[in-house]
Amino acid sequence: MRHRIAVVGSGPGGLTFARVLHRHGYPVAVLERDPAPDARPPGGTLDLHEGLGQLALDKAGLLAEFQALSRPEGQAMRILDADGTVLRDWRPRPDDRANPEIDRRQLRDLLLGPLDVQWGRGVKEVVPEARDGVLVHFADGRQETFDLVVGADGAWSRVRPAVSSVTPHYTGVTSVETSLDDVDTRHPDLARLIGDGSVAVYGANRALVAQRNSGGHVKVYARFRAPLDWHTNLDLADAEAVRSSLPALFDGWAAPVLDLFRRGTAFVHRPLYVLPVSHTWTHVPRVTLLGDAAHLMPPLGAGANLAMLEGAELAESIAAAPGSDDLDDAVRVFEEQMWARAGKWAQITTAGLERLVSPDPTEALALFDQVQPS
Ligand SMILES: Cc1cc2nc3c(=O)[nH]c(=O)nc-3n(C[C@H](O)[C@H](O)[C@H](O)COP(=O)(O)OP(=O)(O)OC[C@H]3O[C@@H](n4cnc5c(N)ncnc54)[C@H](O)[C@@H]3O)c2cc1C
Repeated sequence: MRHRIAVVGSGPGGLTFARVLHRHGYPVAVLERDPAPDARPPGGTLDLHEGLGQLALDKAGLLAEFQALSRPEGQAMRILDADGTVLRDWRPRPDDRANPEIDRRQLRDLLLGPLDVQWGRGVKEVVPEARDGVLVHFADGRQETFDLVVGADGAWSRVRPAVSSVTPHYTGVTSVETSLDDVDTRHPDLARLIGDGSVAVYGANRALVAQRNSGGHVKVYARFRAPLDWHTNLDLADAEAVRSSLPALFDGWAAPVLDLFRRGTAFVHRPLYVLPVSHTWTHVPRVTLLGDAAHLMPPLGAGANLAMLEGAELAESIAAAPGSDDLDDAVRVFEEQMWARAGKWAQITTAGLERLVSPDPTEALALFDQVQPS
């Protein structure tokens, strides 16, 4: 018996789920709001951990391709003082495959492979207790029924309200992102500062992080504690205004450090929201969540990894569940496993954010030494 299954969202979690089901010969409808794969810029590089994202890719039969595409040297991490002094300069061994980096676009294309995503199919609402299964209402007014709907639709999930009334809350830390292109030719001084991987600078309640992606592209994140409306007198769409006013928040920082940000092209404001640590819900037959939709946490290297492993595990359990009771049992077991693991990571990343954007910048250094002893 083949269940009618839909996954909402074609992020790392939704695509891994669909790809592993596909590997088991199982059809799945992938419903994505974006009108096309490249409708939005894909976001920064992702490090995929051996026991999480890489395990998920193994379950999808894609580990060898990932290893060929990924950048182990991108694990390098340098920490500077606000005056530009190098405090730590950690480089991976040549054979270190623990957390290699991959561009999001490359990961997406790898996962997409033979999948037939339904682009431009934004979901508005999911109603679990319909007569013939779970009813999906689309933004364009159409509707469709499935035996199981998996919400992999990220932070502002439209599937989540079918199982939980909880919504994300602001962490008190916001982020302004920018990027540098062709860094090695256009900004060789900054390329040297960044090295092969990332560079981070920590000050009181603020941090600047620059991360190398492939092809000389660098993403730069300025993170600081501020109320949500900190920018009322600043037009964030006006790049020149942001470029000239943001350095005031990093008063006293050395020019080469500030240049990481000042030479950026466009600026995007992204306040950091999270779901409560250990968010769970009373099981609702025929609907479940995975990834950020289930456990949005601070962006400290776990979210995509967890979403992918959850997608792979749920797909494998479904493929082994022949009847509808088995399907519901498989989802229940999956949820328990997801909640336990995600709860631990939510604690780790929440505590991590407190220390990385802390009144005492030595906290960030201490955390680095704990995680990455030389
Ligand atoms: C700056 C930054 C750096 C990060 N670095 C890392 C890292 O190094 N490692 C790591 O593991 N994690 C990292 N993360 C976290 C990671 O990006 C997320 O946890 C991950 O993308 C979650 O995957 P997902 O599939 O659950 O959701 P998403 O990636 O958010 O994908 C959701 C998809 O659903 C679609 N969608 C949304 N609403 C609807 C709707 N109503 N109908 C249909 N489709 C919809 C969206 O268009 C999107 O395609 C980082 C996050 C940030 C912000």
